[in-house]
Amino acid sequence: MILGEGDLVIEDAGMVVRDGLIEELGPRETITPAPTRQTVSLAGRTVMPAIVNPHGHIGYWKGAGANSANFSERNILDHLRRLVYYGVSVFQSLGTDRDDTEIRVRDMQRRGELDNEVLATLYTAGSGIVAPTPGSSNGGPFFAVDAIHEATSPEDARRHVRALAAKDVDAVKLWLDDRHGTKARLRPDICRAIIDEAHTHGLKVAAHIYTVDDAKEAIRAGADILAHLPRTPEPDAELIELLITHDIAVFTSMSIQRPDGDAWLDDPALAELVPVEAITDLRARIRANAPQPLFDTTESYQRMESTLRTFFDAGVRVVFSADTGLLTQFPGFAEHRELEALAAAGVPPLTAIQSATQRSAALLGLTDRGVLKPGKRADFIVLDANPLVRMPHTRRIESVYLQGRPIDRRAIRDRVRKDAHA
Ligand SMILES: [Zn+2]
Repeated sequence: MILGEGDLVIEDAGMVVRDGLIEELGPRETITPAPTRQTVSLAGRTVMPAIVNPHGHIGYWKGAGANSANFSERNILDHLRRLVYYGVSVFQSLGTDRDDTEIRVRDMQRRGELDNEVLATLYTAGSGIVAPTPGSSNGGPFFAVDAIHEATSPEDARRHVRALAAKDVDAVKLWLDDRHGTKARLRPDICRAIIDEAHTHGLKVAAHIYTVDDAKEAIRAGADILAHLPRTPEPDAELIELLITHDIAVFTSMSIQRPDGDAWLDDPALAELVPVEAITDLRARIRANAPQPLFDTTESYQRMESTLRTFFDAGVRVVFSADTGLLTQFPGFAEHRELEALAAAGVPPLTAIQSATQRSAALLGLTDRGVLKPGKRADFIVLDANPLVRMPHTRRIESVYLQGRPIDRRAIRDRVRKDAHA
């Protein structure tokens, strides 16, 4: 049993669950069996906490990629099914909501109106903020340039943040960088206004950045989260000092850029939810690396891996992020690719898992999950292979438990596959 906290592992563990919460947990011989309890044997399996992903983009994926035309409430629900199927219990969509659709789904879920089926729990930053680029589309994500807010002045930006706060968003997202000099940067005074207003309402701000200079600018303006690692150049001592001093959460977002070819498309776990035509389609696009490069170059990716190790070693608060729902990031499967990318970068497996469970849950203020210990929710994944031996074993899911009950994965699979062909 992997507990999601530090290096804690119990080789031969027992757990008692009552009313959805863990009541007792420890070496199996220390757990008192009681005849009134229902007992489930998971002998030979590995148990880990359910995954919490605080950064993705929900509702845009269909078939082999993301597109603005795919976005709908129906597609959001489809993704929440896919996520929970693969053991992702909580998902935060970061800044690409359209017409408050994500907010409506989240609110229905919070009111219990979606309790007739099992879904991942949705968090959302609503519609994020970017600078307008005169004569061109803005520097937001390609599938959502028309869904995010173009801030024209500090006061305009504050108005948007106040409107977001009134809808009780879970975070605020801004795009700061200039996309390789092709787009307008967010003005420093507007950036500071967004962050100041968000903090007034108790909201954390996640900044999309590209370079070390972007990262420093975002931190100095008061941002709480970097949505990506700085990709160029190497991080310097000043940046690390800033990250530590301000306790900045840095999202990993590695797998979305990882030049790892297309062999992962052959994983049978992917084919459980994704039709063969979609896999073939994405394989062709990966091989052609078109219309835009799907991945970073090997050289720049290796620099990111080295940055990731540097941050972990320095004690920076690195938090898992799969940037799910665009390019190659299948909802629910991207999360497992991200864990693999972290391990491949040299992050110790238990540290990688902790970043996707305890650390990500804590970032969202979810103190009741992310860790397996008494008092926490019994949300966990049962694997038939050990991810500490080989990280892709996190995909060998035998069952997913939420609040102590196994979810009906077969029903989810049938529903998702039916909808994929609808
Ligand atoms: Zn993103």
